[in-house]
Amino acid sequence: MPTDTRPVSALTIAGSDSGGGAGIQADLRSFAAHGVHGLSALAALTAQNTRGVDAVHVPPADFLRAQIDACFADFRIGAVKLGMLATAEVIHAVADSLQAHRPAHVVLDPVMVATSGARLLADDALDALRQRLMPLATVITPNIPEAELLLGQAIDDHEAAEAAVVELLARGAAAVLLKGGHLPGDPVIDRLQTQEALYEFEHPRLAVNGHGTGCTLASAIAANLCLGLPLPDACAEAGDYIHGALAHAYRPGNSDVAVLDHF
Ligand code: PLP
Repeated sequence: MPTDTRPVSALTIAGSDSGGGAGIQADLRSFAAHGVHGLSALAALTAQNTRGVDAVHVPPADFLRAQIDACFADFRIGAVKLGMLATAEVIHAVADSLQAHRPAHVVLDPVMVATSGARLLADDALDALRQRLMPLATVITPNIPEAELLLGQAIDDHEAAEAAVVELLARGAAAVLLKGGHLPGDPVIDRLQTQEALYEFEHPRLAVNGHGTGCTLASAIAANLCLGLPLPDACAEAGDYIHGALAHAYRPGNSDVAVLDHF
């Protein structure tokens, strides 16, 4: 008889990366590394390797909802992580599911463009993401280009980043973790703005072309929320965790793109 019980599970609703670096594959490793049982509902499949995304397949929205419903029917889900959702139709299906099942926490990684440049969200899906998912999220975790698209304005320095987190809160996000890796300078500063306070998390910049860092960070936050950590602590640990995993990253393919080492 197994004696180890893991009472709370984390669910990722995201895209599959056939290259194993980002998406669902990264999320499940991140959940496992945090000692949380991982569930997954595939919102999109990518034909992908370390060089880029060759093709995307979006399963029917009904089938996505069936995956989500199956998970909620059997597991106690402490947090849901949202990643690549691809289209407005998928976003509406996910929002409907979340409104039906009401998980305690939702971590929204507003995935739009891969580091390789591939579009991972349809142009006409941005409004749906803003209007349906942002209000349901415990925290949203944009990087600088994603925050620029969400706000429709440039963020080119640290002052603009501080203004952007406040503006995203004003537009209906309960909390915002703005990842600062795309801004110049060392250390990298990630900013968490909650209703109460602004937190800054600093890490030395690593010279690694890492793949799947955003997915891994958001799923680490979701795992920490499952474990009962308050949001600032969940984000602080997740940032330290990514830094460690990036420091030990390895290159499984033929390009210089590295994959995080989670263990
Ligand atoms: N592929 C999938 C399925 C993803 O969800 C993501 C990011 O969230 C990416 C690729 C892009 O990852 P990166 O920008 O780290 O290369």
